[in-house]
Amino acid sequence: MTSSDDLDRLAADLGAWVRQQRELGHEWYLDAGEPAVVPADPSPRTALALPARLLAREPSPPVAPNADADKATREADFARECEAFVRDTVARVARERAAAPQADIFSAAAAPAAPASLSRDEKMATLADLAAGVTSCVRCRLAEKRTQTVFGVGDPDAGIVFVGEAPGREEDLQGEPFVGRAGQLLNEILKAIGLRREDVYICNILKCRPPENRDPEADEVEQCEPYLKRQLAVIGPTVICCLGRHAAHTLLRTNASLSALRERAHFLGDVPVVVTYHPAALLRNPHWKRPTWDDVRKLRALYEALRGKA
Ligand code: SF4
Repeated sequence: MTSSDDLDRLAADLGAWVRQQRELGHEWYLDAGEPAVVPADPSPRTALALPARLLAREPSPPVAPNADADKATREADFARECEAFVRDTVARVARERAAAPQADIFSAAAAPAAPASLSRDEKMATLADLAAGVTSCVRCRLAEKRTQTVFGVGDPDAGIVFVGEAPGREEDLQGEPFVGRAGQLLNEILKAIGLRREDVYICNILKCRPPENRDPEADEVEQCEPYLKRQLAVIGPTVICCLGRHAAHTLLRTNASLSALRERAHFLGDVPVVVTYHPAALLRNPHWKRPTWDDVRKLRALYEALRGKA
């Protein structure tokens, strides 16, 4: 359990790190002019300071005379916001852990065992068994037109799980989530915060593609969600990131707008849930890349703080 002294130390460490990054003048902006330089082995702290051109494909706008001052102000504001977000969320995690044991997080999951009791190999085997069961699932109408089920991919022992909405055309053909253009963008987002696809776990609410990529329907979500709950219970992530409105609405049982959901961390038991835009939405609305960049930097900082390494 995290004591208040531990929390104070985490907050102080994070604050010192944010101040150091600011003083070093690292570019954290989507519209920074220079290309990103990715170290061969980026540490989390270095990775968080990388220029965000990785996320931006559109040309940089003309630089206004006071652009540098505006950027500095924005980054200072973000640093304070990030620091407060991490401090408040870590404190809430400590309270939730004191109130409810982790094994109860996904009470509807019928997990085969508490995550802490499973080794990495056992998690991998349990997920493989679950995936095999999903392959033959006909619980809802989406079974009729799928090419194949799309269970999930990544580290079975991941600290961060990304949850999207449903497979698209490419995912349906390849059997892996986030492999089309949106998947490529997600890979770039991960890279920008010092993560590789294989470092995290990626899955969707639905395991079969809705026709014409329509929105999931309520009965489909109801039938399929237990699979996701079991995935999460087996993996036992430190942080969950919902990609898009549908994932957030399903996991958090809310109808709040995405912009409202992005304002703070949410909780499934003692596991914090961060909400950001779906990469496919970023392809349609590039102006959402900047807020997404802020979201994923907060996610990474929170993860580091919860691992006690911030
Ligand atoms: S979407 Fe889920 S519940 Fe529906 S058939 Fe596919 S795996 Fe089964």
